[in-house]
Amino acid sequence: MSDYRINTRCVQGGYTPGNGEPRQIPIIQSTTFKYDTSEDMGKLFDLEASGYFYTRLQNPTNDFVAAKIAELEGGTAAMLTSSGQAANFFALFNICECGSHIVASSSIYGGTFNLIAVTMAKMGIDVTFVTPDATEEELNAAFRDNTRAMFGETIANPALTVLDIERFARVAHAHGVPLIVDNTFPTPVNCRPIEWGADIVTHSTTKYMDGHGAAVGGAIVDSGKFDWMAHADKFPGLCTPDDSYHGITYAEKFGQGGAFITKCTAQLMRDFGCIQSPQNAFLLNLGLESLHVRMARHVENGQAVAEFLESQSKVTHVSYSGLKSDKYYEIAQKYLPNGGCGVVSFELAGGRAAAEKFMKNLKLAAIETHVADARTCCLNPATSTHRQMTDEQLADAGIPAGLIRMSCGLEDKQDLIDDLAQALAAV
Ligand SMILES: *Cc1c(COP(=O)(O)O)cnc(C)c1O
Repeated sequence: MSDYRINTRCVQGGYTPGNGEPRQIPIIQSTTFKYDTSEDMGKLFDLEASGYFYTRLQNPTNDFVAAKIAELEGGTAAMLTSSGQAANFFALFNICECGSHIVASSSIYGGTFNLIAVTMAKMGIDVTFVTPDATEEELNAAFRDNTRAMFGETIANPALTVLDIERFARVAHAHGVPLIVDNTFPTPVNCRPIEWGADIVTHSTTKYMDGHGAAVGGAIVDSGKFDWMAHADKFPGLCTPDDSYHGITYAEKFGQGGAFITKCTAQLMRDFGCIQSPQNAFLLNLGLESLHVRMARHVENGQAVAEFLESQSKVTHVSYSGLKSDKYYEIAQKYLPNGGCGVVSFELAGGRAAAEKFMKNLKLAAIETHVADARTCCLNPATSTHRQMTDEQLADAGIPAGLIRMSCGLEDKQDLIDDLAQALAAV
């Protein structure tokens, strides 16, 4: 399927039924798998043979869908996780341990920021945050001898900054560590970070990949391009024998293309068990089958809404990388030539009071904390997710009280604009 274009891979990738087999990916609703002899099963436990034994580690339904996502991103191997949070944690913890250090973009999803800055810090893993706009010199200065990974988001949620993937990859590689990129917002339809030098790609499949607000999930894809053995001193977990698997050295046995995901499955999935349910993997695949069709419409609606908002006197600022006025327009032209996603953020002139009035008057756009599904939704952080902060604290954090984040769904763009126009008129 890798020979076909991305639209075809969305529809048919990952699963090719044999003669008389189900046309749709079967949901293998089974916790366990049966074997004829203990020797057969022993080989699986020793990673001497490939196959399934317990759904906490691996399930065929999940693997069909993971294979599709690997084909979409242009990677060598992939796995599904129970959520995007689990995907980012696994991707980092697979190569970090107590005493390690991470360099991460400061412009990332709040949940990932907490994961790295608070929870992983408790595990003895340090972080240095850098702005996505940092120069190569500033990025270099953030690295230490114990740095094991660099992390960023292609289009950050919710700041909508665009990552200069090539610059980040160049710096990471100069320090002998991989670049991990969370590609949730553009999806592989609009950007494939591996083509720009990223080594590991992660997803919250909860967003556009599922696309219908139906199932929480995550994914990790390995590019197969990072040479772990060339930096064996930094990555002992991949490059020295694993006692919990009879002394297997992942990078030797599974090579550059398979080591990362095999270790992540065999150790982290075994020990933490953040597996996606096969039911959810099936729903995710239904979303993936139309991802290429939906992303184009999300972008069309996002662009139309952003242009409309920019023309409004009650709106002081619009962030959308498809607008010529946007700080990230140039870089988006390079990494996101077909557009980024359907999420737009904008600031109302009247601050908090205007935002409250505006939100109250929306008819079609729903008030939700979610983004990136078929139905348009809006959020005013000052009165919801960030309501414990004062107007001053909000301004300092770059989230002014009048800021609205809007996730444009798949409705008719004129209906979205009409809804915005009448809500603005009420302000
Ligand atoms: C939502 C999101 C996450 C977390 O994903 P969940 O599936 O909610 O756990 C991580 N990264 C980005 C960019 C997100 O938008």
